[in-house]
Amino acid sequence: MNLQLIEKLIAWSQKQFKELPWRKKRSLYTTMVSEIMLQQTTVTAVEKRFESFLKRFPSLKTLALSSEEEVLNEWIGLGYYRRARNLHKAAQYFQSHFQTIPDQKEELLNAPGIGAYTANAIIAMGLDRPALAIDGNLIRVLARFYQFQGKRSQLESKIEKKFLQSGMDRYPISYRAFNEALMDLGRTICQNDDPHCSLCPLSSKCKANTNHQFDYLIKPEKKQYDLSLKRVLVIKSNKILLYKRPEKKWLQGQWEIPTFTQSCSHEKFDQYDWDQTRTQKQIINEVSSAITCYKIKNLIFKDTKLNTSEQKKLKHYEQKWFSWDDLETINLAHQSRKILLSKKSR
Ligand code: SF4
Repeated sequence: MNLQLIEKLIAWSQKQFKELPWRKKRSLYTTMVSEIMLQQTTVTAVEKRFESFLKRFPSLKTLALSSEEEVLNEWIGLGYYRRARNLHKAAQYFQSHFQTIPDQKEELLNAPGIGAYTANAIIAMGLDRPALAIDGNLIRVLARFYQFQGKRSQLESKIEKKFLQSGMDRYPISYRAFNEALMDLGRTICQNDDPHCSLCPLSSKCKANTNHQFDYLIKPEKKQYDLSLKRVLVIKSNKILLYKRPEKKWLQGQWEIPTFTQSCSHEKFDQYDWDQTRTQKQIINEVSSAITCYKIKNLIFKDTKLNTSEQKKLKHYEQKWFSWDDLETINLAHQSRKILLSKKSR
């Protein structure tokens, strides 16, 4: 991509997207927060939460010194809570080792929870130095522009190589603005199923546009497993029993209604304890959902207490009774919230 085309792309982006809140107050800290928030979450969702997160944790130090629970609570609504835990761990690491966020890529990558994308985002957008924060949007735009095809990791390395070999890392440009513009283009114009090439500032040199060939990603075949989860709604005296998800398991640190594995086509499945001590007849509702490669049937049961077998299995985890009002403020797992809300509205 030549210098003139990059300047055209940057001018296009700055005309319309300068006002995003995290672009108005760039620092290494705000870049780290916003880029981790933006992974797998829409700009609209992040726009709603970014300011309040910074108000609650205005600096690296305040974030590092807060508890994980406080950070997870402030993350409610953004989903993929592992990112919040990673952000918190990285903040603690930087605070204890440097008392600031370092400006060298190797040092950034040593922090737990910081991968190549976030490190490059901090270098490019926090420091305005040559780097590409290669996320899904950048891959789509640049793979189409150069007509690259392959698996995600192959595309990432082809794009990185092109960036360095073509001298794009030595242009007299703002790399902050270049990265932001590529993200804007991928998000709004070069969309997955429907690229609007006639509106695109790169269209004159884009190979995908010239060849009318927009496919770029070869997706690996995914195994699918069937999973039945037993969800026991325990309600007594208008209080609801919840337990906290343990470390290194799905939904770590979130509250959930007591949940057990009823059956699974993946024999080694160990996210939940297995327990089949309730009969099909006792099911009050059935809800479908999906997570990673699991197609899930949520079998809902209702009771005033857990049975002995269930109690034994859950006794290793923190448990607590909550009022309906408490559910508004705690970090409750998404599926549990849905099940409880539908129960409450009946
Ligand atoms: S011309 Fe079309 S395919 Fe090429 S980058 Fe622009 S929107 Fe994407």
